[in-house]
Amino acid sequence: MKIPSFSTFKALLCATVASLVMVGGVSHADPEDLPDIGNPASTMLTLEDEYQIGRMIVRGLRDQDQILEDPEVTEYIRALGLKLSSQAHDGSQRFNFFMVRDNTINAFALPGGFIGVNSGLLLKTEDESELAGVLAHEIAHVTQRHIARSIAAQSRSSLVSTAAMLAAILVGAAAGGGDAAMAGVAAAQSLAIQQQISFTRSNETEADRVGLGFLARSGFDPNGMPRFFETMSRLGGSSELNIPEMLRTHPVSHTRIAETKERAAQLDVAPAPESVSYALTRERLRVLSTPAGEDPRAYYAATINNEPDATPAQVYGQGLALMMAGQPAKAVPVFERLRSADPTILQYHTALGQAQLQAGDGKASLQTLKRATELFPRNVAVTIRYAETLMQTGDSKKAHEILLDLFNTVPPTPEQAKLTAQAANAAGDVADSYYYMSEYHILSGDLLLAVNQLQLALAVPKISEVQRARFEARLDEIQQALPKRAARRPIEASNGDGRRRAN
Ligand SMILES: [Zn+2]
Repeated sequence: MKIPSFSTFKALLCATVASLVMVGGVSHADPEDLPDIGNPASTMLTLEDEYQIGRMIVRGLRDQDQILEDPEVTEYIRALGLKLSSQAHDGSQRFNFFMVRDNTINAFALPGGFIGVNSGLLLKTEDESELAGVLAHEIAHVTQRHIARSIAAQSRSSLVSTAAMLAAILVGAAAGGGDAAMAGVAAAQSLAIQQQISFTRSNETEADRVGLGFLARSGFDPNGMPRFFETMSRLGGSSELNIPEMLRTHPVSHTRIAETKERAAQLDVAPAPESVSYALTRERLRVLSTPAGEDPRAYYAATINNEPDATPAQVYGQGLALMMAGQPAKAVPVFERLRSADPTILQYHTALGQAQLQAGDGKASLQTLKRATELFPRNVAVTIRYAETLMQTGDSKKAHEILLDLFNTVPPTPEQAKLTAQAANAAGDVADSYYYMSEYHILSGDLLLAVNQLQLALAVPKISEVQRARFEARLDEIQQALPKRAARRPIEASNGDGRRRAN
């Protein structure tokens, strides 16, 4: 067995160490006891500080079950975000894209390159270039460091409450984490912070201009950006009660629409054809975000009068709705037809495999998904669906193997590390299961729980020498980092060009 090495581990470890160090500075959360952060007007967060704050907000959202964990949807939004952000010249900025389980129209950039898109926003876009336009605008806020500037421009009192909130989250983490009440406080406060981040008009103009460049260079129609602004403007004007959240943080004026239209017209691009995945993801989200108590089949019954006229994406959505309504056997022939018509679309394979499994035909599901892994090697969604079927049909050993192979090349999300731990556990490899739970805690930013899991792994009788060496090495890496948290260090201010200022 190969030793997994998550490429993100080192970065996360450094990041977590820095955050633990910060606890020493503000752990009592008493305003008098807070470090001197200097004159706010000249204060600028470093990239590392930003990453810390962003990661903690995302953790708060995750603890509140606000992040939509669906392999197909997550892969789509990640791929689209990375396609656009790879156009940014500065390679030092990390990006992380995720989908938020929220039907309101919003997208936001958090400190540290974390960009969230609400399911409600994606459903309101009419084509991929509109969605890409919103993402490109948010990516530009990150590359132009508008968030750090906005935080720097806040009053000292709001910075004090930010620091106190960070302390509360970190103390919660140090005390063992997983405290639901604490997570609730953290999420509420992180939303308060997000709302405090208000961009200036010139920030907005700059993000539009820079974002349009990302959009055009990635092969999208730059007109998608002003088109979605028009949609937002229309929605904002239709009802006082229903103003999209996005409009509060990104006011859209006629001037702004006119300016982006003019700029888009100057960009000479021949847009690439739209990806099939956009339309499929839209239908998938529509079904996944059906409110509890409502029948997901109703929308398709009303929309698709007769199937021959329906788009493949609508037929896919209808199949998913059947599955969600507890009729997987009826969904199987729907996905079979889609797959025969276009076997190059991986979503048809994974949906068919899932429907077959839910309908009780594990053997067919195995066959479908095994074939899919051959057509789409090391694809995250395909591998996860195959692993799920393997686990449910009793071959957890194989599930464990394919997940290890995948995550040797692709960094997992915390949920995916947890699934790997479950596969290891079901395969009878208890020590490896503890090991993957420790990776899960590292990815979620909780080093103390990670240590605890590694100690449990080492206590398992009869572990192999290879395992022992691997667990001890990881434990060493974390423990070397941990004692530093006792050190008291003020939150340092920086003047923005990377040099630290002494206060
Ligand atoms: Zn903006």
